[in-house]
Amino acid sequence: MKKIQAIRGMNDLLPSDSPYWQYVESTLADILQCYGYQEIRFPILESTDLFKRSIGEVTDIVEKEMYTFDDRNGDSVTLRPEGTACCVRACEEHGLLYNQTQRLWYMGPMFRYERPQKGRYRQFHQCGVEAFGMTGPDIDAEILLLSARILRELGVEELVTLQLNSLGDTASRTAYKAALVTYLEARRDQLDPDSQRRLSTNPLRILDSKEPTTQALLDGAPVLLDYLDEESKTHFEQLKRLLDANGVQYQVNPRLVRGLDYYGKTAFEWVTDKLGAQSTVCAGGRYDSLVEQLGGKATPAVGFGIGLERLVLLLQAAECMPEGLEQQADIYIVAIGDVQTEALQLAERIRDELPYLRVISHCGGGSLKSQMKKADKSTADIALILGEDEVRTGKLAVKYLRQEQPQALLSQDEVLQLLQSLV
Ligand code: ATP
Ligand code: MG
Repeated sequence: MKKIQAIRGMNDLLPSDSPYWQYVESTLADILQCYGYQEIRFPILESTDLFKRSIGEVTDIVEKEMYTFDDRNGDSVTLRPEGTACCVRACEEHGLLYNQTQRLWYMGPMFRYERPQKGRYRQFHQCGVEAFGMTGPDIDAEILLLSARILRELGVEELVTLQLNSLGDTASRTAYKAALVTYLEARRDQLDPDSQRRLSTNPLRILDSKEPTTQALLDGAPVLLDYLDEESKTHFEQLKRLLDANGVQYQVNPRLVRGLDYYGKTAFEWVTDKLGAQSTVCAGGRYDSLVEQLGGKATPAVGFGIGLERLVLLLQAAECMPEGLEQQADIYIVAIGDVQTEALQLAERIRDELPYLRVISHCGGGSLKSQMKKADKSTADIALILGEDEVRTGKLAVKYLRQEQPQALLSQDEVLQLLQSLV
């Protein structure tokens, strides 16, 4: 019979990968906690309208990347392609944005129907960070410092650069769009087909085009930063000053736009040249209009999303995973003969008294040789060997698996003391 396989673009995370993921996830959680951000969790499935109304009808995500289907009741639901809209929905539903500020984060799977390749999957994972109720630019600077610290702490800061732009307010963006369209309409035949289509649907996204000819054409195009309203201009200048004063380096990229419609003013991306075509590791910006757009009271907001797969790939590219991450156990208890009770009791005693040690107690019997093989494979440093003789004399054998040291025969108390002295 043909075996059933995973769905294309959706990855299994195997035990050999999970230490890296746990390391990344716990580093993120620790840093977020140290900035006073609180975790929020929301469902993976939401009403399709939530994403249509927030991300925008003519974005890539809504046009062609969403996993949308009718549930058994005939309601259209969508696997979340990103977290910001869900976060706003949840906050509004529970009154978290009413006359207060919020600093929030979440982590979990997102779903987009894209062409799978390195760093681009159909189920991927994001850590999202959102700050509500603050007009900035100090909060913009804070979340940029936060993102910079994450990349620094993980040891990949050398591999990334921060690109920064201001998208202005709605009116300045509209004026700019008109100028851009006029410029590009006159050169329509030189545009790639995708950009030609975007000319009428989402012209700002043309700035983002990967086509070299389109990029060359854009060299002579009007520049978004020249169209900024006074408030956005001041905001941008202040943000840059705050970053300068805190030693955050950045490049202003006037062509940086986001693929989601709700962004305005600050937009940024941490990019790398280490992941091929998938250059963006972390992306975000200000979205002051989204809460209102989703039916709430106008609330300023700023946030970003980090792609965890890309972060793990970057860590691997930088070879900067901490040593010993893949170690599964410290102690392996070998149980020979009818000593199951004593072996389990010994393991429990070690866990009681030395809870930071990882103990695997051999189950399922087998010869000394086969158990020692398993002990070796477990990556444990020490095997404690328990046989019927040892049980009778109240002693057990201590064997060092990774260093040249003679085997010792010790009482349980002595073993506990020894283990304590090793850490
Ligand atoms: P891209 O331009 O690479 O498609 P995006 O602008 O669609 O990215 P965002 O919606 O801003 O990406 O998502 C934030 C981050 O989530 C990205 O910077 C990236 O690290 C990650 N990400 C987005 N889509 C995917 C995907 N399909 N697979 C893996 N990671 C992804
Ligand atoms: Mg995308």
